[in-house]
Amino acid sequence: MAFRPDLFNPSEEHQALREMARQFAEKELWPQAQAADRAEKFNLPLFRKAGDLGLLGITIDEKWGGAGMDATAAVIVHEELSAADPGFCLAYLAHSMLFVNNFAVNANDAQRRRVLPKVISGSWVAGMGMSEPHAGTDALAMRTTARRDGDDYILNGAKMWITNGAINDHELGDCFLIYARTGEARGKAISSFLVEKGMEGFRLGQRIKDKLGMRASPTAELVFEDCRVPAANRIGEEGESTLHMMRNLEIERLTLAAMSLGLARKCIEIMNQYASDRKAFGQSIRNFGQVQRHIADSYAQWMAGRSYVYATAAAMDLASHGNRLDSDGVKLYCSTMGKEVADRAIQVLGGYGYVGEYHVERLWRDAKLLEIGGGTLEAHQKNIVGDLRRVAVLR
Ligand SMILES: Cc1cc2nc3c(=O)[nH]c(=O)nc-3n(C[C@H](O)[C@H](O)[C@H](O)COP(=O)(O)OP(=O)(O)OC[C@H]3O[C@@H](n4cnc5c(N)ncnc54)[C@H](O)[C@@H]3O)c2cc1C
Repeated sequence: MAFRPDLFNPSEEHQALREMARQFAEKELWPQAQAADRAEKFNLPLFRKAGDLGLLGITIDEKWGGAGMDATAAVIVHEELSAADPGFCLAYLAHSMLFVNNFAVNANDAQRRRVLPKVISGSWVAGMGMSEPHAGTDALAMRTTARRDGDDYILNGAKMWITNGAINDHELGDCFLIYARTGEARGKAISSFLVEKGMEGFRLGQRIKDKLGMRASPTAELVFEDCRVPAANRIGEEGESTLHMMRNLEIERLTLAAMSLGLARKCIEIMNQYASDRKAFGQSIRNFGQVQRHIADSYAQWMAGRSYVYATAAAMDLASHGNRLDSDGVKLYCSTMGKEVADRAIQVLGGYGYVGEYHVERLWRDAKLLEIGGGTLEAHQKNIVGDLRRVAVLR
């Protein structure tokens, strides 16, 4: 059939990417997702396979070994992977968006040459450390410090909730983009550093276990005790990383919203099929108006969220100025949409929805994280109202 571009597949390359990502998700991720969730196990071999498929450097310029694709491509991959295994997809997001894309935009050429091949291939697992035990939503209140000492910086502090912080119970991830304070001024004294496993004074803190959902993504605390980082590992100018952090949050929010789309789609497919198969009172339960409402409302809300996400992605330049209003908007809308759709799927499946067999209970647990991670609902509401303060007429 001839290719016809639409909002969700604007080019043949986008469509081919979706097909490849969907095949990977269905053939490789889906069969192991339930077990990885139960065992709280990050699937490193599959992560490396994502590297072989070119997914880890999806947004990186071809001259650095990436696929050179746009924000829409990033959305497509997150939507597809999350339809099978949101936990794995969260680890993918932390690596490919929070580290790789962020690093590629803000690092210098020497840093890019040394690090990008390792993270794009998947031989290094990477993450990003912004949140701290005492500072999440209020990220600029971070306490981790970096003090210049000759050709090095000395880092002290801790980062909390870091996805890919550990790749198993004992082992750190390989490298991290860490934000730290290089001065007192709240917004103007944040710098970022490439911190690598094995650096003196850098260790794994608590490995965060028994999460409600996203259990296939490893989460850990990272600790810096007089951690010596070469000045050559500072990313960008000293004190100028607040903007990097804010821009990266926009991309994070867009792709987290795409994750909500993926898991919602899977829940709709499951409840739609189940409603045909399950009989009660001599007929398929899909004939009952209350069940129809669950399915129909879910479909319409999913499509509304999907349209908003893809429209926002189409207008987003990954490297320059972004769109805070709509990156907050898509995540505010889609995270709750995803959770509500997963909730309805459980309801339509009755008792079978409440146990693991049909996966919807896992997807419901995973969906909840998306109302918290990368910005809480309340943070998005605060930002949106802040950004609308001077807007009298919406175009
Ligand atoms: C599984 C998981 C993975 C994560 N991965 C990473 C990662 O890789 N890297 C990273 O840096 N961080 C990561 N995070 C951290 C995540 O981004 C934070 O949890 C999130 O930003 C919220 O911060 P907090 O948990 O400190 O909550 P707090 O900021 O303490 O918020 C607590 C409550 O207060 C509300 N609140 C706070 N301020 C306001 C306000 N001004 N107005 C209204 N309400 C407010 C919040 O909305 C929330 O309801 C992860 C978290 C989880 C759970």
